[in-house]
Amino acid sequence: MLAVAALGLCPRCGARGLFAGLASFAPRCARCGLDFSSFNVGDGPAAFLTLLVGALACVIAGWMALALDPPWWVYVITLGPATLALIVWGLRAGKAALLAAEYRRHAGEHVSKHRAEP
Ligand SMILES: [Zn+2]
Repeated sequence: MLAVAALGLCPRCGARGLFAGLASFAPRCARCGLDFSSFNVGDGPAAFLTLLVGALACVIAGWMALALDPPWWVYVITLGPATLALIVWGLRAGKAALLAAEYRRHAGEHVSKHRAEP
């Protein structure tokens, strides 16, 4: 589960390639054919993650100001890329963890065995 989340692996066969873009899932697993699009992860982790990373960046910026007192551009070249990288990585890990949890618990849309009569 941890490796699936951290590395973006398929929850069924463990192959790489869960993500097609920066933080968007591939349509299906290239090795076992597991349909990633049937999982409804959404962007649930995004707000929580942004708050967490934002708070962390503020704490680091405060510490830098008090301990080092650097010029303003030091904040831009250190905290800017670090915050972006942390958000992208965290979003990937969060979405992969949610997808793996849904896969393990067989969560998803209910599909009725009976067809609705017209
Ligand atoms: Zn797979």
